[in-house]
Amino acid sequence: KQSLTKLHHGLSSGMATAEPANVSSRSVGSILRSRTVDYDVTNPEAQDSFFVGDLGEVARQHAQWKQLLPRVEPFYAVKCNPDTMVLKTLTSLGTGFDCASKGEIQMALDQGVHPSKIIYANPCKQASHIRFAAATGVRMMTFDNADELRKVKAIHPNAQMILRILTDDSRSICKLGVKFGAPMAAVPHLLKAARELDMDVIGISFHVGSGCFDASAFGEAVMLARKAFDEGKAWGYDFHLLDVGGGFPGNNAPGVSFQQIAAVLGPAIDQHFGPEVRVIAEPGRYYVSSAFTLAVNVIARRVVPRDRKSSAIDESEASAVATRDDHPSYMYYINDGMYGSFNCITFDHAVVTPNVLARSGAFMYKHAIQEAEFPCSVWGPTCDSIDCIGKGFSLPEMQVGDWLHFDNMGAYTMCAASQFNGFKKSPVVYTNTELVEPGH
Ligand code: PLP
Repeated sequence: KQSLTKLHHGLSSGMATAEPANVSSRSVGSILRSRTVDYDVTNPEAQDSFFVGDLGEVARQHAQWKQLLPRVEPFYAVKCNPDTMVLKTLTSLGTGFDCASKGEIQMALDQGVHPSKIIYANPCKQASHIRFAAATGVRMMTFDNADELRKVKAIHPNAQMILRILTDDSRSICKLGVKFGAPMAAVPHLLKAARELDMDVIGISFHVGSGCFDASAFGEAVMLARKAFDEGKAWGYDFHLLDVGGGFPGNNAPGVSFQQIAAVLGPAIDQHFGPEVRVIAEPGRYYVSSAFTLAVNVIARRVVPRDRKSSAIDESEASAVATRDDHPSYMYYINDGMYGSFNCITFDHAVVTPNVLARSGAFMYKHAIQEAEFPCSVWGPTCDSIDCIGKGFSLPEMQVGDWLHFDNMGAYTMCAASQFNGFKKSPVVYTNTELVEPGH
């Protein structure tokens, strides 16, 4: 608790360069209520969609990591959500950072992070970005091909290279192996090339794929990394770094849990690697997924009579909804969509669920729904018909002006949102629920 209090004071006192946003200590529900039910109607932004970002949840995830994987140092994958307050929180909690570009390295450095706590974990890098890493003292970086080695040698000869090996990503939602990772058969040839170039290769990394749903993938990958370590010995290297990548699920994610992965990964590391080997990881979604809740306003709706054919609901989808009767179905239009935060449906294969937040002025956050539900589809605000968040949903009847919320929206959402059609990105209201005041 004490370190979290320190975190809160750090966050609100501007400990890093950029001015921090206001961080309250109210509960997520209390913030949602004040912005959706008790709001000032004269405020022109009062009906805009918004996130509630709970930095306390980020801190709780970190505490769980320390408890269940004490040997593994997390280097947060900035790409997942480069929100400044998330970076500040993690900096004050002492994590390292996995950066994919010059821009991300700069973001981490802006928080006062020491270059030794940054890994440039993109196996295929632009030369000018490598030059930037060299100039700012970032030395650790990954590679998986000989051309990359030659490029880095020419620009950043003091780099500490980490060979990313290909492991089985078939049990992950986002497979990264089609693009990155050296097959085990290529490892000797790459280490030979590194030797000839006199490059410092310090260890091995892998990534089981983002959204991994089978804990055993981590155990198997650790075994392959062990083989690669042994191969390193054959080429005169004494590796001392193992990077177990990302792929750890967020809190509340369906499928395999972080606890289950830790129960496989921790012992596998201890079995195959002595204490002289430093072990790091690159978790992204694990830290932020559950920390962000998105609130959206129903800006328009269309009632679709049951007997009218419509693209709103396919017959097959509608019949899957239990409450089928004479009522119409609905098309709801909300003020964030596929071109905004819901790009995660396309890029991250995310499955999202709308929940009632406020109906006709009544606050319904986490309330059990007592009324009948009707089939509906939910659409984003742009003029593009691809801007459809989903068609097979079931909700009680919503009116224009009502609110919905989507949970677990912190990973791969706002970072890839565009402003297509002039719609601004949903802003974030911050809180730290580790310091909830009594009565909220
Ligand atoms: N590290 C690398 C190199 C990645 O490409 C990614 C995601 O694409 C991550 C870490 C983070 O993955 P996750 O959010 O699944 O933990």
